[in-house]
Amino acid sequence: MTQRIRDISQQGQPGEVITLQGWVRTRRSTKGLTFININDGSSMAGLQVVVNAELPDYESILKQLSTGASVSISGTLVESPGKGQRVEVQASQITVFGAADPETYPLQKKRHSFEFLRTLGHLRSRTNTLGAVFRVRNACAQAIHQFFQDQGFLWVHTPILTASDCEGAGELFTVTSLDLEQLPHTQAGAVDFSQDFFGKPAYLTVSGQLEAEIMAMAFTNVYTFGPTFRAENSNTSRHLAEFWMVEPEMAFCDLDGAMDWAEAFLKHVFRTVLEQCPEDMDFFNQRIDTSVLATAENILAHEFERITYSEAVTLLAKADRSFEFPVEWGVDLQSEHERYLTEEVFKKPVIVTDYPAAIKAFYMRLNQDGNTVRAMDVLAPKVGEIIGGSQREERLEVLERRIQTAGLPLEDYWWYLDLRRYGTVPHAGFGLGFERLVQFMTGMANIRDVIPFPRTPDNVEF
Ligand code: ATP
Ligand code: MG
Ligand code: MG
Ligand code: MG
Repeated sequence: MTQRIRDISQQGQPGEVITLQGWVRTRRSTKGLTFININDGSSMAGLQVVVNAELPDYESILKQLSTGASVSISGTLVESPGKGQRVEVQASQITVFGAADPETYPLQKKRHSFEFLRTLGHLRSRTNTLGAVFRVRNACAQAIHQFFQDQGFLWVHTPILTASDCEGAGELFTVTSLDLEQLPHTQAGAVDFSQDFFGKPAYLTVSGQLEAEIMAMAFTNVYTFGPTFRAENSNTSRHLAEFWMVEPEMAFCDLDGAMDWAEAFLKHVFRTVLEQCPEDMDFFNQRIDTSVLATAENILAHEFERITYSEAVTLLAKADRSFEFPVEWGVDLQSEHERYLTEEVFKKPVIVTDYPAAIKAFYMRLNQDGNTVRAMDVLAPKVGEIIGGSQREERLEVLERRIQTAGLPLEDYWWYLDLRRYGTVPHAGFGLGFERLVQFMTGMANIRDVIPFPRTPDNVEF
């Protein structure tokens, strides 16, 4: 097995003979010596290798050792005189797998803009920032599973192809078979693309919630963690057409319970990532956003603020500044409002509850006032909404009315209604936008830079 550079630099002892593999990040030559930094993606710093001019074939190897080249290097670890690293490698043998022509290799030593790097989706993971992002993303994913598994939740796999628009927001991608002969035709003779899942309509899922509710009605506490799709034909820094969602669903749980779960869950993920990725988190704090570490500490040290939507509207109406979208009771909060509440009023995450029923999905539990629902959004500084959740409507008659009011066909929801007919229980859940969490944690401004392959109106290439 190959030794990883992170392990060598943390645990390797002077005198040890090692072999490492990776890509050249930088090269610097002085008289008779060349210093190269090799990175295999396991750490931010990589490892410094010293190549002595006495090495056989020094000149010809050196020619190929430019930024981007892939190499295997054997050598002896020595204590490093440089600061910031314990050990470095005195090379005794170097094999170049693949050179990278310095004339054309696009990632040169200078700092590139994130816009430019997005045009290089196949190479940008070799940069410090994207490398750190994807290591933190991995640590977040692992912490999420660990949290729910430790709490006895069952990980359920909900379908990607579905028949229902869970959110009712009309942001669905339809699924189309390209076998045109199999597709039904309209009376006018045109292919009917609305019936193309073997004669029925099918869509890419916008949320696994309804199916997660099915599973919670048997296993009590469950969660999903998978890709979801929304036809967001807008170019914001917080929306993707394909993003990952974490959706826990808890039976015998009300809205307060869901808020407690959401807060404990986010704190666990922050704590774990700070422990597991200190080097990467320091990097974000220095280079991307100088409030990243303070934000993380703030999350761990304080309880999230909990206010109702009506209270939020009152606070926004009293604000000593104007908003692009004026606030009045009944309209959904925009990102500028969410940021004002978290960044200026409370200076920490805020959970807003009890939104007007008219602006939330049909499945949320109606409050006694008949006007608001037991919804909750967790708002974070800078990113705005990272979690949307609610207590679900568990009363059959009320749910039937809500589906009809939303203009949805009752018959499509027969199984969802059955869950209220047979052994219904109060239950609640929420959906966390995984990329928004990674943005929040790393301070990255654009959601396109926290997912390896962003799907947006302008990109589906690689
Ligand atoms: P927004 O108001 O930001 O459009 P939403 O209210 O439409 O979000 P929900 O249906 O509540 O989103 O989805 C749950 C969570 O999924 C959101 O809180 C957010 O973190 C995330 N999310 C929603 N849409 C997107 C998207 N297009 N790209 C990335 N994450 C998203
Ligand atoms: Mg939306
Ligand atoms: Mg929203
Ligand atoms: Mg929402």
